[in-house]
Amino acid sequence: MFIPSSVLIEKDALEYPLGQQLYETFKEQSKVDVVLLKSNRVTGLPKERREKYEAGKKTIVIGVRKTMKFQSCKPSAHFQLPLVTGCIGQCEYCYLNTQFGDKPYTRVYVNVDDILGQAKKYIDEMKEITIFEGAATSDPLPMEDYTHSLAKTINFFGLQEKGRFRFVSKYNNVDSLLGLDHGNHTEIRFSINAEDIIKKFEHKTPSLSQRLLGTQIVIEAKYPSGFIIAPVFLEEGWQKQYGNLLDDIDRTFSNVMLDHPITFEIISHRFTARAKNIINEVFENSELPMDETERKFKYGQFGYGKYVYQKEQLEEMKMFFQQRIEKFSFPHKILYII
Ligand code: SF4
Repeated sequence: MFIPSSVLIEKDALEYPLGQQLYETFKEQSKVDVVLLKSNRVTGLPKERREKYEAGKKTIVIGVRKTMKFQSCKPSAHFQLPLVTGCIGQCEYCYLNTQFGDKPYTRVYVNVDDILGQAKKYIDEMKEITIFEGAATSDPLPMEDYTHSLAKTINFFGLQEKGRFRFVSKYNNVDSLLGLDHGNHTEIRFSINAEDIIKKFEHKTPSLSQRLLGTQIVIEAKYPSGFIIAPVFLEEGWQKQYGNLLDDIDRTFSNVMLDHPITFEIISHRFTARAKNIINEVFENSELPMDETERKFKYGQFGYGKYVYQKEQLEEMKMFFQQRIEKFSFPHKILYII
């Protein structure tokens, strides 16, 4: 279980039972520095980016979600469901480094009932199956043993005829989610990569085998489940690396009883100029492949440009994953390869 070095509690958070409960929990822990903030502004972290990152990754902020307009979340879902922002992991390529570069801490929201109430409004307005993604701005699972917010959310969606919930994680502390009435309305996916990539770039996260074990456990609990394989690096020897990964998956699940096909979402590596700058500031000797001259520049949906692999490389990647996954001996479904 993750033990933070410091916990910062925003002023309004103590007005909620979960805020009080988290305050009591962390107050009991002698190694955790608990600070009651005078406002809802987070203060006290170092200014310099690298130091800030290191301190932030050991810090939990307990706050109230004020914005109740949920962002869209293509291609994974209709809307983001914000229970947590940030993550304790230290993956070099993480999109949170860019999106929340100035806020490298994990912030948990205590007004979960308000957030779920808003989700209900969206479901009612849409009048069709509406999907919410719980990991668009975080990996929410490391916080679950403290907050139980995912459990509450899973129970909520279990009762929603037209609401669906999905989240993805690299962590495997799923035990507290196993006995819930999920009603097949929550999909728990695991984010995985080739073993060498995990060891090299995904610091402070569980190993590949621990993640595969986590997947087996949620499948036994009859959750719909799947994998996000991302980011896929198309560097020398990639076919062998990812071939080994797909072999591992096939071996692991060929004899598992499945109630639902295992889904696959596969995303090639891309980066922006801003991301590259931030990564190089935080991880001084990063070996992430980010040579612009080898990539194709493409404008993204939010107006900024990103460097993606060349068209031929992406076509080869698509073909490779399609052909290998089609041979799996268990029921499966590819959602997208991009
Ligand atoms: Fe980012 Fe996911 Fe790694 Fe956390 S586990 S640092 S969210 S990539």
